[in-house]
Parts: sequence; C-alpha cells; structure tokens
Amino acid sequence: MKDYAASPALAASAELSGAGRTAGEGDALARLRRGETAIWRRPVPAWDALTLADVAEARARFRRFAPVLRRLFPQSGWDGSVASPLLDYPAAADLPRLLVKADHALPMTGSIKARGGVHELLCQVERIAAAEGIVLDGDDPYAALANDAARERLGRHSIVVASTGNLGFSIGLVARAFGLGAEIHMSHDAKAWKKERLRRLGARVVEHAADFTETVERARAAAAAQPNAYFVDDETSRELMLGYAAAAQELAEQLAGRGVETGPRRPLFVYLPCGVGGAPGGVTFGLKHLFGRDAVCVFVEPTASAAMFVALGQEHPVPRHVAEFGLDNRTIADGLAVPRASPLALAVVGRLVDAVVAVGDDALLHWVRRAWNEAGLRLEPAAAAGFAAVQPWLQALARDDGAAPVHPHWRDATHVVWTTGGSLLPDEEFQALLD
Ligand SMILES: *Cc1c(COP(=O)(O)O)cnc(C)c1O
Repeated sequence: MKDYAASPALAASAELSGAGRTAGEGDALARLRRGETAIWRRPVPAWDALTLADVAEARARFRRFAPVLRRLFPQSGWDGSVASPLLDYPAAADLPRLLVKADHALPMTGSIKARGGVHELLCQVERIAAAEGIVLDGDDPYAALANDAARERLGRHSIVVASTGNLGFSIGLVARAFGLGAEIHMSHDAKAWKKERLRRLGARVVEHAADFTETVERARAAAAAQPNAYFVDDETSRELMLGYAAAAQELAEQLAGRGVETGPRRPLFVYLPCGVGGAPGGVTFGLKHLFGRDAVCVFVEPTASAAMFVALGQEHPVPRHVAEFGLDNRTIADGLAVPRASPLALAVVGRLVDAVVAVGDDALLHWVRRAWNEAGLRLEPAAAAGFAAVQPWLQALARDDGAAPVHPHWRDATHVVWTTGGSLLPDEEFQALLD
C-alpha cells in the first residue's frame, strides 16, 4: 500500500491542519483525528444552489406573465411566451446535421437575455407588486400590472444593471415597458444603437470607459446609493440563471416533438456561447438534470475573452485520500468506509461543463456571414460562436478517439447550436458585418 505519510501530498495536509489557515479548519481536523464529532462548512454558502423546483417555478412565472407581456409588446401572432423555435440548419458537406435553438429570435429583446435577465426582472416586478399592494387576482391577474395606477406605483422603483450591451438592453426595454425606472451601466463594449434605443425609451444610460467587471462594480455602488433601486447582478444572480435553466425543458419538448430521442445511444451535443457563464451555465444545469451525461455541453468563447476556459483550466478538484490527512479509514460503518470520494460525483456536481472551445474573431465573423447566406439567420458575432465550435470540437474528438471519449456514441450525437442574439440588429449594423 502506498505510504501516504511519505507522500509529497502531505504538504497539503500540513496546510489544512492549521498552518496558515483559519483556526477553525485546524480544529476540525484535530477533532476528526480524535474521532470526535466535527463539522466542515462551505466557505461560500450553498444557499445559492439551484434546484429543479426553482426551475419549474421559473417556467410557471413566465407563463403567469405571458398575457401581460403580450400586451406590453404587441407583436402579431405572439402569445406572450418567452420561447424560441428549434430550426433545421441546411445540410452542408463539412458539417454534421445541425439543429439551431434560435434564441436570436426571442421575442421582446432578440437575445437569450429575454430568458435570464427578463426572468429576474419579472421576479422583481412581483416583489414590487406585493410591496406596493398591487392586487393580482381575477381571470388575468397580471393584467393589473399594465394599468395606469399600477404603472404609477411601479414607476417609484428602478432597476440598475451593468452590461456589455444585451443584458442592459433587454432589462432596460422590459423595465420601461412596465413603467419602472431603468439605469443601465454600459461597459466600453456596448454598441451605440443599443444605448440610443434605451435612451429613447426613457432609460438612463451611464457609459463607462471600463470593462464589464469594473462596470459591474460601479453599477453595484450606484444602485446601493439610491432608494428603491434593485441591482441585477449578472455575476451572482440565481434568478438570472434560473431563467436560462428553464430553456432546457423547452428544448427537450421540441426535440421530443420532432421524434428526436436523447439517450445513451444518441447523445445531445449543445454548443453554447459563453460570457460570464450564466446563460450557458443555466442551460447546462437544466439539460444535465434532464439527460444526465447524455447531454454534452460545450461552451464557446472568443479566444481573447476565454474567461471560463481559464477558470476551468485552473480547477483541479482531485478527490483526496483521507490518509493524506492522517485518517485511517477504520470505522464501524463498513458501508461507509470509503477513503476517497467518487470522481464522478465530483464531476457531476462540480464540473457540469464538458468542454470549452475558444474561437477567434475571424471564425465568428465567418459564421455570421455563412449563417446568413446559407440559412438566413440574422446573428450577431457572439451568437454565431456555437457554429464556429462544431468543426474544431468534432475534429478534436476524432483525433482523440478512444483516448478520452466525451461520450461513447459521440458520432451519433444530435447537434444543437444555440444562437443567442442578433435579430434586432439594425440593418446598417448587420450589413457592416456582412461587408
Ligand atoms: C449574454 C450573451 C451570451 C452569454 O451569456 P453569459 O451569461 O454572459 O455567459 C451569449 N450570447 C449573447 C448574444 C449574449 O448576449
């Protein structure tokens, strides 16, 4: 048997047992060694965890709001549901058969933010309604939110958000439609047309010569200094992520409706453009709960902004042997006498992301043009990222075949490219991308 006492890994155990750490951690380890009751506490509370019940509630919330959203955003043929079609991408010799989850065409905001950002906004509208005594009952309870008296009361409140463009655009648009104040902090990335459109709607647009992370800090501080202001925090919000997670069930129903089965012999590969990770993370949470490991979730980032790539690349959640910590794995509870946690369990709860593909801007632009020319899809560069990942990813799997298969039946996968925004791009903006 390996002599753990002599193993270099013990250096880590010295660290955990007290030196340089909090007294609490050292104490806990000492208690374990004495066989006493001990407690490990998560440094960041697990209070943030998402549950399936939360996801079901998010779907129900979207349903409750559908009639009022339809009234606020009249669009012919729209029933008020925040849902996008699942389309066939035309067959191409260099690609597997692709399906497109067309969130670029989502109603109201033309981007995937209509799910996450708008969901959190709807949560806040419900909270304000309760606080302001706006009564929501009758046949169409939420209709009350669109009347003048309710709007006047909603107008006493505002939403503050930081964005690179789409989140602020989406939240500003919908907040103003409800009569809420909107203060949108834009990082230097934001496009002029989004800011102009928001200003026309009566939103306050605050421009920062700063990146997104810095803009979030400034917006958070600005919100804290105002009465009745609610800050939508793209970096930490559960409600935001839950809105995205609700999309998984929608996709599952659409696949089932087409007779596309997902299972051990037919995995589902989903290509998800990733910024901070809320949108692809929420969708991944939902898909993994529906399909388990038969859903393979590939995040796609621009090489220059590969934030998730570098974060996951840093992570080494290696299961540790208790002997490394001076524990002997001898217990009366023989069924529990395991010295090391399951790597799979760690992988499933800690690492739902199967892969991150980072692609260059040239590939994004290429796919904006190709998706338009081949399929008439009006995508912004971010939204085309999924397409750009398919070939490099499948080529990597083919080279790697047998070594570390992501799924034993990856060659028979259904491929879904999630297109995340662009249908509202003004003509001249879109044309400039095509030229
Ligand atoms: C916001 C956004 C994403 C990614 O969402 P994150 O939550 O930031 O990861 C992808 N594509 C488009 C077009 C977006 O607007």
